[in-house]
Amino acid sequence: MTDLPRHVRIAIIGAGFAGLGAAIRLIEDGERDLVVLEKAADVGGTWRDNTYPGCACDVPSVLYSFSFAPNPLWSQSFSRQPEIWDYLRACVDRFGLAPYLRLGVELEQASWDDEASHWRIRTSRGDLTADLLVAATGGLSEPRIPDIPGLDTFAGVVFHSARWQADHDLTGRDVAVVGTGASAIQIVPEIAPTVGRLTVFQRTAPWIIPRSGRPVSRLTKSVYRRFPVLQRIARNVVYAALELLVFALLHPRLGRALQWVARRNLARQVKDTRMRAALTPDYSLGCKRILYSSDYLPTLQRDNVRLESTAVAQVLPHAVVGADGVEHEVDTIILATGFHVSDQPIADRVIGRDGQTLAEQWRESPQAYDTVTVHGYPNLFLLLGPNSGLGHNSVVIMAEAGIEHLRAAVRHLRASGAVAMEPTARAQAAFVTEVDRRMSGSVWTAGGCRSWYLDPTGRNSALWPGFTMPFRRRLARLRPEDYELTPSQGDR
Ligand code: NAP
Repeated sequence: MTDLPRHVRIAIIGAGFAGLGAAIRLIEDGERDLVVLEKAADVGGTWRDNTYPGCACDVPSVLYSFSFAPNPLWSQSFSRQPEIWDYLRACVDRFGLAPYLRLGVELEQASWDDEASHWRIRTSRGDLTADLLVAATGGLSEPRIPDIPGLDTFAGVVFHSARWQADHDLTGRDVAVVGTGASAIQIVPEIAPTVGRLTVFQRTAPWIIPRSGRPVSRLTKSVYRRFPVLQRIARNVVYAALELLVFALLHPRLGRALQWVARRNLARQVKDTRMRAALTPDYSLGCKRILYSSDYLPTLQRDNVRLESTAVAQVLPHAVVGADGVEHEVDTIILATGFHVSDQPIADRVIGRDGQTLAEQWRESPQAYDTVTVHGYPNLFLLLGPNSGLGHNSVVIMAEAGIEHLRAAVRHLRASGAVAMEPTARAQAAFVTEVDRRMSGSVWTAGGCRSWYLDPTGRNSALWPGFTMPFRRRLARLRPEDYELTPSQGDR
């Protein structure tokens, strides 16, 4: 039986990068009265859940760690999933997080009790209350299963890329991969040599930039271990280089240079003109997430692989039918169809001061102040909340920026003696207006595509529209005038 405390100062939901990072930093600040509730049996978040063949990070390893916990031992320039998962588990040991973790505990509901100024939390293992609630559940955790007619009648095996069925041996199978996003282009080259036939269903062609990962030499690892400052310098150089991509994303005309690189790569790797035409996107690069791969395009030209440039219209018990009406017999379907981003389940489970769930509040579009706090939801802190995703750099940096804001808020509460804080409606609206202003004319809204960055209203509520440095500076400093405080009972 998991021993849940009856009350804690801080309850963190989720033990992925953001949740673990928050726990580490808060404990360092002297906050010992906290728990991390994790619905799964282990830590790791997306790096625990995504175990598909080829799963790796497309951000350079040197940048894909906490800034305060560099890893000199990455074995590849672009780390693979098992190593990133190991890194996160090592952080649990290194920072002594085990006593704070409650694994196998799922948040069912959290509602703000305005009388008591705390969160009433119902979990799969019992109830507790918490002064502060930190939602660190990640934007890419809930698989999106497409609503394809007949999918439930399929007689073979079907699974989502983020719920890989390792016990289903793909050797010699007739497999369909639905989708051509970041997950699919890692899966396809890995499974193609093993399967019998592979049919890839591409609804929209992605822009692909060549990328060659390589092993990190023993010399580099030992230099990084002995001289951490050198790894820090390497990290900063890579960080600065990736930041330059912002110019291409905010000003689509500047993105044409990168588009040229992608086109040239396509021309070099795909000689067949019809196939090349099918693989050429009809929107600006960056509008959807830029993909990085050097082996995906060659794999599509293998004898046992077929690219079907069509959406999936229907599934029959033994076949997948494209929008062109052609039936493709398969025995396995892999849905690399992405995640619920603007409609995450946690939003249905968090109820604010006025009895509204976050999902109801966000009916139009997910909005927050500085991406972290929400008017009407006192003492709620979202890590990687609305508009904190990135299309060009490491999202761990954004998670850390949110953690800094949380730390500043905790300090502010302590110093003021207040029991609760929430952003003013005016401050939140001003932030959202500023984000939307920067977003206008960017490749995400003017690039001619429909992506998971956009919510149903067509607003980009997923990404931060700019450089990360000013974002980090902004979040690190709490502006007291943008927050309303609730004094403690004694001070009222
Ligand atoms: P995704 O980018 O959302 O791609 C989903 C794919 O499924 C798209 O090609 C989409 O087509 C297609 N699709 C969805 N419904 C379909 C339908 N009914 N019929 C046919 N095609 C359909 O999902 P993802 O590849 O899992 O990636 C999600 C995010 O995870 C990435 O953008 C990235 O942020 C992250 N990720 C990162 C890494 C990494 O290396 N760091 C690796 C994997 C994933 P349309 O384009 O037409 O919508």
